[in-house]
Amino acid sequence: MECLLLATGNPGKLRELRRLLAGLPLRLVTPAELGLSLDVPEDGDTYAENAIAKARAFAAAGGCLALADDSGLEVDALGGRPGVRSARYGGPDLDDRGRFELLLRELHAVPERNRGARYRAVVALAAPADHDGRAVQPGGVVTFEGSVAGTIACAPSGDGGFGYDPVFVLPDGRTAAMLPADEKDRASHRGQAVRAAANFLARALL
Ligand code: IMP
Repeated sequence: MECLLLATGNPGKLRELRRLLAGLPLRLVTPAELGLSLDVPEDGDTYAENAIAKARAFAAAGGCLALADDSGLEVDALGGRPGVRSARYGGPDLDDRGRFELLLRELHAVPERNRGARYRAVVALAAPADHDGRAVQPGGVVTFEGSVAGTIACAPSGDGGFGYDPVFVLPDGRTAAMLPADEKDRASHRGQAVRAAANFLARALL
Protein backbone atom coordinates (compact mmCIF):
# COMPACT_ATOMS: atom_id res chain seq x y z
CA MET A 1 0.00 0.00 0.00
CA GLU A 2 1.26 3.51 -0.84
CA CYS A 3 2.37 5.49 2.19
CA LEU A 4 1.44 9.04 3.24
CA LEU A 5 3.82 10.86 5.56
CA LEU A 6 2.03 13.26 7.94
CA ALA A 7 4.53 16.12 8.15
CA THR A 8 3.98 17.26 11.72
CA GLY A 9 5.34 16.38 15.13
CA ASN A 10 2.33 17.90 16.94
CA PRO A 11 0.42 15.02 18.62
CA GLY A 12 -2.90 16.92 18.50
CA LYS A 13 -2.57 17.53 14.76
CA LEU A 14 -1.52 13.89 14.19
CA ARG A 15 -4.67 12.63 15.95
CA GLU A 16 -6.86 15.01 13.92
CA LEU A 17 -5.15 13.99 10.64
CA ARG A 18 -5.51 10.28 11.41
CA ARG A 19 -9.24 10.73 12.08
CA LEU A 20 -9.81 12.72 8.87
CA LEU A 21 -7.71 10.48 6.61
CA ALA A 22 -8.90 7.11 7.95
CA GLY A 23 -10.43 4.84 5.32
CA LEU A 24 -8.10 5.83 2.46
CA PRO A 25 -5.98 3.08 0.87
CA LEU A 26 -2.83 4.71 2.25
CA ARG A 27 -0.53 3.69 5.09
CA LEU A 28 -0.30 6.76 7.33
CA VAL A 29 3.19 7.25 8.79
CA THR A 30 4.72 9.88 11.08
CA PRO A 31 8.16 11.50 10.83
CA ALA A 32 9.12 9.72 14.09
CA GLU A 33 8.20 6.32 12.59
CA LEU A 34 10.60 7.01 9.68
CA GLY A 35 13.29 8.38 12.03
CA LEU A 36 12.97 11.86 10.51
CA SER A 37 13.45 15.09 12.44
CA LEU A 38 13.37 17.92 9.92
CA ASP A 39 13.10 21.53 10.95
CA VAL A 40 11.72 23.35 7.90
CA PRO A 41 11.73 27.15 8.40
CA GLU A 42 8.22 28.66 8.17
CA ASP A 43 9.39 31.99 6.76
CA GLY A 44 7.27 32.22 3.60
CA ASP A 45 4.92 35.13 2.92
CA THR A 46 1.88 32.88 2.52
CA TYR A 47 0.39 29.79 4.16
CA ALA A 48 0.71 27.98 0.81
CA GLU A 49 4.44 28.75 0.55
CA ASN A 50 5.06 27.34 4.04
CA ALA A 51 2.84 24.27 3.58
CA ILE A 52 4.44 23.48 0.19
CA ALA A 53 7.99 23.90 1.55
CA LYS A 54 7.20 21.53 4.44
CA ALA A 55 5.42 18.94 2.28
CA ARG A 56 8.25 18.96 -0.31
CA ALA A 57 11.01 18.64 2.31
CA PHE A 58 9.26 15.71 4.04
CA ALA A 59 8.40 13.99 0.74
CA ALA A 60 12.06 14.19 -0.34
CA ALA A 61 13.39 13.02 3.04
CA GLY A 62 10.81 10.24 3.50
CA GLY A 63 10.73 9.07 -0.12
CA CYS A 64 6.92 9.03 -0.14
CA LEU A 65 3.85 11.23 -0.53
CA ALA A 66 3.75 13.85 2.26
CA LEU A 67 1.02 16.08 3.67
CA ALA A 68 1.77 19.34 5.50
CA ASP A 69 -0.33 22.28 6.67
CA ASP A 70 0.09 25.91 7.63
CA SER A 71 -2.51 28.11 9.24
CA GLY A 72 -3.13 31.39 11.01
CA LEU A 73 -5.55 34.01 12.26
CA GLU A 74 -6.34 37.11 10.17
CA VAL A 75 -7.86 40.11 11.93
CA ASP A 76 -9.57 42.71 9.72
CA ALA A 77 -8.83 45.69 11.98
CA LEU A 78 -5.12 44.78 11.85
CA GLY A 79 -5.01 44.54 8.05
CA GLY A 80 -4.93 40.73 8.20
CA ARG A 81 -2.27 40.38 10.91
CA PRO A 82 -1.01 38.23 12.57
CA GLY A 83 -1.75 35.98 9.54
CA VAL A 84 1.12 33.82 8.40
CA ARG A 85 3.10 35.02 11.46
CA SER A 86 0.41 33.90 13.97
CA ALA A 87 2.63 31.39 15.77
CA ARG A 88 5.39 34.00 16.28
CA TYR A 89 3.21 37.11 16.87
CA GLY A 90 4.78 39.31 19.58
CA GLY A 91 8.14 37.52 19.49
CA PRO A 92 9.60 34.30 20.87
CA ASP A 93 8.99 35.10 24.56
CA LEU A 94 5.19 34.94 24.33
CA ASP A 95 3.13 31.78 24.86
CA ASP A 96 -0.42 31.24 23.53
CA ARG A 97 -1.93 33.34 26.34
CA GLY A 98 0.64 36.12 25.83
CA ARG A 99 -0.20 36.21 22.14
CA PHE A 100 -3.97 36.48 22.54
CA GLU A 101 -3.57 39.04 25.34
CA LEU A 102 -1.39 41.13 23.00
CA LEU A 103 -4.11 40.83 20.35
CA LEU A 104 -6.77 42.00 22.85
CA ARG A 105 -4.59 44.99 23.80
CA GLU A 106 -4.09 45.92 20.13
CA LEU A 107 -7.87 45.81 19.62
CA HIS A 108 -8.95 47.49 22.90
CA ALA A 109 -10.33 50.58 21.12
CA VAL A 110 -11.96 48.66 18.26
CA PRO A 111 -15.78 48.38 18.50
CA GLU A 112 -17.48 44.99 18.16
CA ARG A 113 -18.74 45.64 14.62
CA ASN A 114 -15.14 46.06 13.41
CA ARG A 115 -13.67 42.99 15.16
CA GLY A 116 -14.10 40.58 12.24
CA ALA A 117 -11.47 37.83 11.77
CA ARG A 118 -10.93 34.46 10.16
CA TYR A 119 -8.83 31.36 10.65
CA ARG A 120 -7.27 30.13 7.42
CA ALA A 121 -5.41 26.91 6.61
CA VAL A 122 -3.65 25.51 3.57
CA VAL A 123 -2.80 21.82 3.23
CA ALA A 124 -0.17 20.71 0.68
CA LEU A 125 0.35 17.20 -0.71
CA ALA A 126 3.77 16.67 -2.31
CA ALA A 127 5.31 13.70 -4.09
CA PRO A 128 9.08 13.00 -4.27
CA ALA A 129 10.79 13.33 -7.67
CA ASP A 130 10.98 9.55 -8.20
CA HIS A 131 7.40 8.92 -7.07
CA ASP A 132 5.30 6.35 -8.90
CA GLY A 133 2.02 6.81 -7.00
CA ARG A 134 -1.29 7.65 -8.67
CA ALA A 135 -2.50 10.74 -6.81
CA VAL A 136 0.27 13.32 -7.30
CA GLN A 137 2.73 13.37 -10.20
CA PRO A 138 6.48 12.87 -9.52
CA GLY A 139 7.92 16.06 -7.98
CA GLY A 140 4.43 17.61 -7.99
CA VAL A 141 2.41 19.36 -5.31
CA VAL A 142 -1.30 20.18 -4.87
CA THR A 143 -2.89 22.46 -2.27
CA PHE A 144 -6.28 22.70 -0.52
CA GLU A 145 -7.73 25.55 1.58
CA GLY A 146 -10.17 26.07 4.41
CA SER A 147 -11.38 29.11 6.35
CA VAL A 148 -13.72 29.93 9.22
CA ALA A 149 -15.11 33.43 9.86
CA GLY A 150 -15.64 34.87 13.33
CA THR A 151 -14.94 37.89 15.52
CA ILE A 152 -12.43 38.69 18.26
CA ALA A 153 -13.90 38.82 21.77
CA CYS A 154 -13.03 41.56 24.29
CA ALA A 155 -12.03 38.96 26.92
CA PRO A 156 -11.08 35.25 26.76
CA SER A 157 -13.50 32.41 27.55
CA GLY A 158 -13.45 28.62 27.31
CA ASP A 159 -10.63 26.26 28.25
CA GLY A 160 -10.41 23.91 25.26
CA GLY A 161 -8.53 24.30 21.97
CA PHE A 162 -5.21 26.12 21.69
CA GLY A 163 -3.67 29.30 20.29
CA TYR A 164 -6.19 32.09 19.79
CA ASP A 165 -9.26 29.88 20.43
CA PRO A 166 -10.27 31.58 23.75
CA VAL A 167 -10.77 34.91 21.93
CA PHE A 168 -12.09 33.66 18.56
CA VAL A 169 -15.90 33.92 18.60
CA LEU A 170 -17.92 31.82 16.15
CA PRO A 171 -21.21 33.01 14.63
CA ASP A 172 -23.19 31.11 17.33
CA GLY A 173 -21.54 33.20 20.09
CA ARG A 174 -19.25 30.48 21.50
CA THR A 175 -15.48 30.89 21.39
CA ALA A 176 -13.55 28.14 19.59
CA ALA A 177 -12.18 27.19 23.05
CA MET A 178 -15.74 26.29 24.13
CA LEU A 179 -16.27 23.66 21.39
CA PRO A 180 -15.84 19.93 22.06
CA ALA A 181 -12.84 18.63 20.04
CA ASP A 182 -14.94 16.66 17.51
CA GLU A 183 -17.16 19.67 16.82
CA LYS A 184 -14.10 21.87 16.31
CA ASP A 185 -12.60 19.31 13.88
CA ARG A 186 -15.79 19.35 11.85
CA ALA A 187 -16.01 23.13 11.64
CA SER A 188 -12.32 24.04 11.56
CA HIS A 189 -10.37 25.63 8.74
CA ARG A 190 -7.80 22.81 9.01
CA GLY A 191 -10.58 20.19 9.00
CA GLN A 192 -12.02 21.67 5.79
CA ALA A 193 -8.63 21.73 4.05
CA VAL A 194 -7.71 18.19 5.16
CA ARG A 195 -11.14 16.85 4.11
CA ALA A 196 -10.63 18.44 0.66
CA ALA A 197 -7.24 16.68 0.45
CA ALA A 198 -8.84 13.40 1.60
CA ASN A 199 -11.56 13.69 -1.08
CA PHE A 200 -8.91 14.36 -3.73
CA LEU A 201 -6.94 11.28 -2.61
CA ALA A 202 -10.09 9.15 -2.53
CA ARG A 203 -10.98 10.14 -6.12
CA ALA A 204 -7.42 9.38 -7.29
CA LEU A 205 -6.98 6.10 -5.42
CA LEU A 206 -10.34 4.41 -4.96
P1 IMP B 1 0.80 26.29 12.39
O1 IMP B 1 -0.14 26.08 11.25
O2 IMP B 1 0.98 25.07 13.23
O3 IMP B 1 2.08 26.94 11.97
O4 IMP B 1 0.07 27.30 13.39
C1 IMP B 1 -0.05 28.64 13.14
C2 IMP B 1 -0.55 29.41 14.36
O5 IMP B 1 -1.85 29.93 14.02
C3 IMP B 1 -0.78 28.60 15.62
O6 IMP B 1 0.37 28.54 16.42
C4 IMP B 1 -1.86 29.40 16.31
O7 IMP B 1 -1.29 30.51 16.95
C5 IMP B 1 -2.69 29.91 15.14
N1 IMP B 1 -3.77 28.95 14.82
C6 IMP B 1 -3.92 28.20 13.71
N2 IMP B 1 -5.01 27.43 13.77
C7 IMP B 1 -5.56 27.67 14.97
C8 IMP B 1 -6.70 27.14 15.63
O8 IMP B 1 -7.46 26.28 15.14
N3 IMP B 1 -6.93 27.63 16.86
C9 IMP B 1 -6.15 28.58 17.45
N4 IMP B 1 -5.08 29.09 16.90
C10 IMP B 1 -4.77 28.65 15.65
